[in-house]
Formats: sequence, C-alpha cells, structure tokens
Amino acid sequence: MLWLALGPVHVMESQVLVIRIKIPNSGAVDWTVHSGPQLLFRDVLDVIGQVLPEATTTAFEYEDEDGDRITVRSDEEMKAMLSYYYSTVMEQQVNGQLIEPLQIFPRACKPPGERNIHGLKVNTRAGPSQHSSPAVSDSLPSNSLKKSSAELKKILANGQMNEQDIRYRDTLGHGNGGTVYKAHHVPSGKILAVKVILLDITLELQKQIMSELEILYKCDSSYIIGFYGAFFVENRISICTEFMDGGSLDVYRKIPEHVLGRIAVAVVKGLTYLWSLKILHRDVKPSNMLVNTRGQVKLCDFGVSTQLVNSIAKTYVGTNAYMAPERISGEQYGIHSDVWSLGISFMEPLQLLQCIVDEDSPVLPVGEFSEPFVHFITQCMRKQPKERPAPEELMGHPFIMQFNDGNATVVSMWVCRALEERRSQQGPP
Ligand code: ATP
Ligand code: MG
Repeated sequence: MLWLALGPVHVMESQVLVIRIKIPNSGAVDWTVHSGPQLLFRDVLDVIGQVLPEATTTAFEYEDEDGDRITVRSDEEMKAMLSYYYSTVMEQQVNGQLIEPLQIFPRACKPPGERNIHGLKVNTRAGPSQHSSPAVSDSLPSNSLKKSSAELKKILANGQMNEQDIRYRDTLGHGNGGTVYKAHHVPSGKILAVKVILLDITLELQKQIMSELEILYKCDSSYIIGFYGAFFVENRISICTEFMDGGSLDVYRKIPEHVLGRIAVAVVKGLTYLWSLKILHRDVKPSNMLVNTRGQVKLCDFGVSTQLVNSIAKTYVGTNAYMAPERISGEQYGIHSDVWSLGISFMEPLQLLQCIVDEDSPVLPVGEFSEPFVHFITQCMRKQPKERPAPEELMGHPFIMQFNDGNATVVSMWVCRALEERRSQQGPP
C-alpha cells in the first residue's frame, strides 16, 4: 500500500489514510484518502455511494477495540472515529506492527438482501496479501467499477454514451416531454436516469440541440444533476444523468420545515450557480428537484437548449402552476420568474392560475410556519418581478441563512424514512 511504503511517520504527516469499505457478503474495497483529518461524513457516504450505487446508505459503522460496532452519522462522530483510529495507528507504530486500514461497515436503509439487485460485485481482496497490493490508489478497485474514479468520470462524461451500452430498467416517471428510465450503463457499472424524448425534427436541429447541450458538461455543482451525455437514435433523444434514489420532491407529502429549509438552501445554491452561468432554469418545480438518500438535493431539467425547449413546446404547449404571472401573460422571462417558481414550489399551489395573474399572490397560512419562512415565500412571490429578491439577497435571507449549515444528514434521514414508509405501504414486491 502506498502509505505503508512511505512509513508510519509520513502517514500522519501526509495525512494519507486508507479506508477499507466492507461490503456485506462480498469482501471489501480500499479507498486511499489524502486528506484524512479534513474528511467529512458526506465524503465517505459519497464514496460508499460509488461502491454500492444501488444501496441507500445513510450511515456506517466501525469497530472499537472490543469489536463493538459504533455508528457514524455526522461529522462529529467522524471526528471521534478518526481520532480513535489514529490512536490505534500510533499503537501499531510503537509495537512495530503493520498498520491496519480503517475498516468501515456501510449501513443501509433497507435489508441487504433487497439491495444490489443488479448483482454488483466488488473486488474481494482479503488476507495479508492486500498489504502488498499495488491496486490501492485514488481509485475504487471494485470489479464493476474496475476503472479508477477519474477514468470512470471520463467514461461517463466524455459524451460517448450510446444506446448499445445502456440497459433500461424501471420507468421512473412520465412528464410532458418524455419518459425517464432507471438504466444500467454496462461499461461503467453505473446506474443512470435516462430521459427519452420523442422529437420529430431535422438532422440540423438534432445537431443544434447536441451542441447546446455541451454546456452541461461544464456544469459542475453538487446542487445540479450530473450530466453524462446525450444521443439521438432515430426520432428520439436520450439524455443520461445521475440517478437520484429519492426521486423528485413532488412525490413527498408534507415536508417538515427544518427539512424543507435545507432543501431550499440547496435549490437556491443550484439556481444561483445556473444564473452565474447565465442559464435560466425556466422549469423550477418540485418534480425537477431531486433528492437522494445521501441527503443531496439537485436541480434537473433546466432549459439549457433553446432548441430542445422549442421542439418540446411544439408537441406540448401549456402552462403549469409554478409559472410566474408575467410568464403566463406572455411577458419577458428573467431570473425573477425563476424566483417566483422557487417560492411557489415550496408552498402548496392551492390557487388557480388565473388568480395568480389577476388577484393577489397566495400567502402561507400564518401560525403554521415560521416567520422567516413565510417572509421568504412572500418575497419570492411578489407580483412585480423586480420586487422579488435578487440572487445575492436570496442567499442572505434569514430563512436560507438559518438552514445553511451543510447538514445533509437531516435530509438524508428524512428521505430514508419516507422511502421506508413508501416501501412498507406498498408491501413486498
Ligand atoms: P415535465 O415534463 O413537465 O418536466 P416532470 O418533471 O414530472 O414533468 P420528467 O422530467 O419527465 O417529468 O420526469 C418524470 C419523473 O422521473 C420525475 O417526476 C422524477 O420523479 C423522475 N426522475 C427524473 N429524473 C430523475 C433522476 N435523475 N433520478 C431519479 N428520478 C428521476
Ligand atoms: Mg422533470
């Protein structure tokens, strides 16, 4: 192992740490971390998510000296684990022993038997030979994910997605423009969400759409859905994106304010990022806000390709309940219109569209929600576009500031609980 070769003192100095992620019933994957003490709980869940893309991991465990399992669910608990681990490393150094990696055991929302339905296998490298294994680097040497994470990213992001490499699985949902499928990308072993839209357009327009979608490769924000590529086959375009195991917000019932607050922070950050790239979302609504069991919240379906938006609009012309009044009346669309949709997405759209154009904006019932929340929604839904908060004002609003604590665990626990409830209501598959 790289860090063993450097010697014990360097281990601490260079802060390189090997985390061995134990996979239930199938071995382990070693992950070399170059910033051990700075490691965040979320980073570990991210990597577990890459190793077990099908799983819904929200916490993990490690073993103390008595072999008792201790659960880690937060940065605080991570710190405690790392300090315990470094103390064992010191002891091993003093005794001249080989330094053992830090072993962690992912904990999933659902029982292991139900997971991994697509038969993901992970490299098993048990026994002492693993210490001399050259395979440990920045990569995740699982056999479905045999390539290094950098390579994997390249495969998934170089735009060479094609129909032959994709196996369509479940249907995730239908929208006005098309259908979204959960799919398996065979070369990388990754699970994707693929949106398929039927478009009867010329080759010229197809090319234009493909070139307009190019900007998606450059979008790099944890609040925006990952884009892996797109391709046309005959009269349909397939757009491949990151799969979010919690689905979209529209299927969740009442969301408690402390959870909604964290979701709103992520949505505001995602929108601010898009606006910084001069991209207007144009379709802000709960079904375009996706969540996962790692507590991440990401925006999807933003109008990056004018041609794609226009082509879809030819087959579907309509308004939706989240559109700003100025848009419904056919006036100019701007950042302010995205801000309106942001506001209305976080309250029940009880009012008829016509009311929104003709009458006063709907307001949240006083008493049921906190004052900052009601103020935030009311400001976003000012009838005059220019009176709505500008991007920097959104970030500085007390409601957003209050929940801007990076606490993904709150969202993660809520998504997991909701998925569990949904599963138990549906009964066994
Ligand atoms: P519209 O067509 O008006 O935008 P919509 O957003 O509901 O409506 P789609 O964008 O086609 O329709 O999405 C259909 C459903 O697929 C969504 O409601 C969401 O639940 C699911 N979905 C979309 N993208 C993903 C994804 N990346 N991961 C998981 N589920 C997704
Ligand atoms: Mg959508």
